[in-house]
Amino acid sequence: MPSAPNVQIRQFPCLSDNFGLIIHDPESGKTVAIDVPDAAPYLAVLEETGWKLTDILITHHHWDHVQGLAELKTVTGAHVTGPEKSRLKIDGMDAFVEDGDHVLSGPLRVEAIATPGHTLDQISWHFPELKIAHTGDTLFSLGCGRVFEGDLEMMWASLARLIAKLPEETVIFCGHEYTASNARFALTIDPDNEDLQDRTREVEALRAEGKPTLPTTMAEELLTNPFLRPSSPAIRKTLGLEEASDADVFAEIRKRKDNA
Ligand SMILES: [Zn+2]
Repeated sequence: MPSAPNVQIRQFPCLSDNFGLIIHDPESGKTVAIDVPDAAPYLAVLEETGWKLTDILITHHHWDHVQGLAELKTVTGAHVTGPEKSRLKIDGMDAFVEDGDHVLSGPLRVEAIATPGHTLDQISWHFPELKIAHTGDTLFSLGCGRVFEGDLEMMWASLARLIAKLPEETVIFCGHEYTASNARFALTIDPDNEDLQDRTREVEALRAEGKPTLPTTMAEELLTNPFLRPSSPAIRKTLGLEEASDADVFAEIRKRKDNA
């Protein structure tokens, strides 16, 4: 899956519906974790693989993304990088990033893309060499995060930034396994979308087998995720918003999801 052939990626479930992610580059020996919902599953992967955790990247301050951080850092001594905007909210960070900052190097070079809306501090992490991104609680498969701290216009601007910055082949990891319920809602917004119908069948089959529906790709989400498709004539017709701005169409979809 990653374009740097030796880099290994492990995604695993945490808590009730969170994901853990660990990326290992055998060339440099660097191993990177993204978010720590719970330390135990991370430590289990490190134990099983023998990888030594060197870095932890944080997407945002919510407890279900940082709850295991203190324990994982204490056990591994990893260097923690997270949002400058949460400098005072998250204990144990060593370095702070703002939009456009790059950290790490080689195949693990990663850019911080500020994607506020769900929270004000939210960072999406893009690894251009690996052609992967972790979009935290901003972009989910067939959905997007609830808007808690920002406003709907800010959230749309963040999703539009991801559309602009992430090439279609980018493999997308995110914070939660919400895809099945997102699919049911998406079909109410875009019922005649055959790509969405296909993806929904795939998601139902994966979940029936207890398998994750992530990662996804930008290409797949651009075809199926209604939150990335406010310019779709079919969606606009369903919503009766043919003349509205993309931001207003997005806002209507997000409000309907909040009330679904
Ligand atoms: Zn969150």
